[in-house]
Amino acid sequence: MKAMVLKGPNTPFELCTVPDPVAGAGEAVARVIACGSGLTIQHIKAGRIAARFPRIIGHEITGEIVAVGPGVTGLEAGDGVTAYYYLNCGHCRWCLANLEPLCTNSGGNVGRNCDGGYAEYIKLPAHIFIKLPEGLDYKSHPAEIGVITDALATPYKVLRRARIKAGETVAVIGAGGGVGIHQVMLAKWARARVIAVDVARDKFEACRKAGADQVVDASTSNVAEALLDLTGGRGVDVVVDYVSAASTLEAGSKALGRHGRLVTLGGAGQTFKASSLDMLLKEQDLLGSRYVTRSEILETLDLVARGEVWPLVTDIRPLEDAEALHEQVEQGRVTGRAALLIG
Ligand SMILES: [Zn+2]
Repeated sequence: MKAMVLKGPNTPFELCTVPDPVAGAGEAVARVIACGSGLTIQHIKAGRIAARFPRIIGHEITGEIVAVGPGVTGLEAGDGVTAYYYLNCGHCRWCLANLEPLCTNSGGNVGRNCDGGYAEYIKLPAHIFIKLPEGLDYKSHPAEIGVITDALATPYKVLRRARIKAGETVAVIGAGGGVGIHQVMLAKWARARVIAVDVARDKFEACRKAGADQVVDASTSNVAEALLDLTGGRGVDVVVDYVSAASTLEAGSKALGRHGRLVTLGGAGQTFKASSLDMLLKEQDLLGSRYVTRSEILETLDLVARGEVWPLVTDIRPLEDAEALHEQVEQGRVTGRAALLIG
């Protein structure tokens, strides 16, 4: 099969012919139709996230099952599928509690610890594939359907994690990013007032179109002060921080009102300061949110199937253009998500 292979960190893609994957016991193989090209996998390509090479990256797939190995049930040739990003075990206490991102036997990630979707075929443990629901026209919109599993489902989970309710004010830091803009979209869908915070002025119009009621330019203003101003000094109910640098987390925590919730995801794991007095007196929560559960992915797929929300994919190219597309991702020039069409 054709595959875009990375031979090492921070090297260009090489279009190679590699052996077709063969489904072993408990495994399945899908023909890849499209695969999302987000910043997470660009981090792997650039060497900022460690991986073993050679490697075929990509996990936001739309595909169709072509073969299942011995012992596989619930999946058959012709099924439309996407993939869960984590290679969770499926049987530890966290997997059984429907908290798969916390799996204690995790084998890592699709496209990082095993080969991913930048190829004509992908082989995975069968339980990692997620069947697409009826009513989702994945053949007409494979790029959009493929990115749901991460770019849309990750922020969908945050609605629950942060207990976002209709009428609350939600600030999204890094709102112009590929996942951030979908957080704006989903917070609006949840009937919140949404304030988009970013340094990229060229993304503000897209943030507004996605549902932002107001925009804060973090390159020219003090984010905490701006959020307090926009809420009459009360502070926001929820800050979702997709940048999660110490400076943004500290700004976010200062901007929280009573019963405020700060959610961290993304970022480089920096330590930050927050006021324990504010946490106590205002009953604030500091929360982490890690990827999304399988059931929440199913719910997000259903949301799209019902036409409630639609993924924003603005740059779709053939597999052969992966290198040029990833340059756009690296430079932050993509609005929403980018994706490759493969088969
Ligand atoms: Zn597990």
